[in-house]
This record gives sequence, C-alpha cells and structure tokens, in this order.
Amino acid sequence: MRATIIDGARVANAILAQTHQRASAVATTLGRKPCLATVLVGEDPASHTYVRMKSNRCRTTGLDSRTHHLPACTTTSEAVALVRALSGDTGVDGILVQHPMPAHIDERTVFEAIDPGKDVDGVTHASFAAMALGSNGFQSCTPAGIMALLDAYDVDPAGLRAVVVGRSLILGKPVGMLLLARDATVTYCHSRTVDLSQVVAEADIVVAGVGKPALIKGDWIKPGAVVIDAGYNRGNIGDVQYAEAAERARLITPVPGGVGPTTIAMLLRQTITAAEQASS
Ligand code: NAP
Repeated sequence: MRATIIDGARVANAILAQTHQRASAVATTLGRKPCLATVLVGEDPASHTYVRMKSNRCRTTGLDSRTHHLPACTTTSEAVALVRALSGDTGVDGILVQHPMPAHIDERTVFEAIDPGKDVDGVTHASFAAMALGSNGFQSCTPAGIMALLDAYDVDPAGLRAVVVGRSLILGKPVGMLLLARDATVTYCHSRTVDLSQVVAEADIVVAGVGKPALIKGDWIKPGAVVIDAGYNRGNIGDVQYAEAAERARLITPVPGGVGPTTIAMLLRQTITAAEQASS
C-alpha cells in the first residue's frame, strides 16, 4: 500500500477538543450547557446507531443532547409541529432531523421547519443558499468534514481537478460547491454519467458519495490522487475499492474511520456556533 491513510478520528478529535473548550465558555454565558435536539422518526437501525453515537459525543464534548423519538406512523405535520416547537425553544441551540425519514414523510417540509439559526446540520434552503453564495451560515456536516480532512492533510484544492461522484443535497452537491469555493475545477458525476471511469481517472481529488460498494475501481484512480470515500455500505465497505485504490492514491480515507468521525465533529462544532450566536 502506498497511500497515506487519512485518520478521520484524529482530525475529528482535534475539532472536538476545540469545540469542548468553546462549549464550556458558552455554557458560562448561557447558564446551561449548549443543547442539540435530535428528531428521530421510526426504527431504522442505522439511524438509531448514528443518533446514539451523536448523543455520546455530545456528552463527552460538554453538550446536552435530547432525542425526540417519534413512531414510524408519525405524519409530516406532526413532525413539523415538533420541529417548530424546538425552533422556538430557548433551551435548544441546534436541531438535527435524522434522515432518511420514513417514506411517507415529506422530509423537505420537515427540514424547512428548522429555524435557520438552529440548522446545525445545514439542511434548510437558507443554509444551502448561504453556502452557495459563500456567506455565513451552517454547512452540511459531511461536506464540511471533508474540507476539514483536506485541510488537515494540507491538500489545497486550488487549481486541482476534483471529481465528485454523487449529487445528493446533503453530500455530493454541497461538497462540490465547497471545493469550487476553494478554487478547484469541479466535475460532478451521477447515475447518468457516461464513462465514469474516464472522468474519475482525470481527478486529482476524488470524492465518492454514492452508496454502492466498491463502485469506483482502484485502477481508475490517477496515481498520486487524493481519495475521499464518504460512502458507507453494509459490511463496512466504502464506494471505492479500497486496497487497490490505496496502491495508486497519495492520500485515502478508510471506511470506517475516515469521513464519518468528522461529520459528527462538524455537527457539534456548528451547535456551539449556534449557541454562541444565540448568546451574543
Ligand atoms: P443518495 O441521496 O442516494 O445519492 C446517491 C448519489 O449517487 C446520487 O446522486 C446518484 O445519482 C449517484 N449514483 C447512483 N448510482 C450511481 C452510479 N452507478 N454512478 C455514479 N453515480 C451514481 O445518497 P447520499 O445520502 O448522498 O449518500 C451516499 C453515500 O454516502 C451513502 O453510502 C451514505 O451512507 C454515505 N453517507 C455518509 C455520511 C458520513 O457521514 N460518512 C453522510 C452522508 C452519507 P442520481 O442523482 O443520478 O440518482
């Protein structure tokens, strides 16, 4: 293996250490710990695991966390009512609506019920627009975490060719926008892309966010490229054929232990930012 493995836990721990200090300072001003409220609908086991991990991280980082667990039969308007109540609750600094929600719920309508000042997962139209315009606002956490990984390993995207595979609103689209804002030349790929292998082969930075195990083959990777695999598939498999890609890449994220830890760190960091803004 030639690539240096990007240690997402190390980068996340550094972010969390700073976040913990800021949490303590803002707790003094607020007279309470900063608080992240999570809305979890239904019984999706992966979502339950994520929510538990996030609550544990809150505890070890000096934040309070509340989980509102609603049954799978919850309607869109019931979920919206809860999110509106949390938006108006002065004891709550950040709101996370865990997704995917059950298919009958209109996720977008629920997201839009989040007060933009508490949208620490960066899912509202307001947050997305702020990111697109390069103005202040909360970023989508996985893309923000990916940029933190690049920075931690001194990868300056300026002038590099970045290929983002996947164009979801929470991952592909925003990470491409953040890379563009840092002067990368960005290409998006998706399910209708023709000759994916050839597009990926031109990339200095590859970001995979698809959800298909080992879709991106190791021999597609340009020698010396940086490979960020945000995909997570059953059996701890990413979207990139890891061992083969690591033979060619300069830097590569493992799955797990790459992108995942920084996603949670960004969520907590943005919750503290929300608390600081509310207290100032
Ligand atoms: P998503 O909403 O399902 O989007 C998947 C994207 O992949 C779509 O844009 C889709 O294209 C594209 N795609 C599907 N098949 C493709 C193919 N054969 N070739 C090229 N592109 C293809 O998924 P998501 O929510 O963005 O999540 C993607 C992956 O990232 C999942 O494995 C998820 O678990 C993981 N994830 C990880 C984190 C983390 O914190 N580590 C956070 C979020 C997501 P179309 O738009 O054309 O359909």
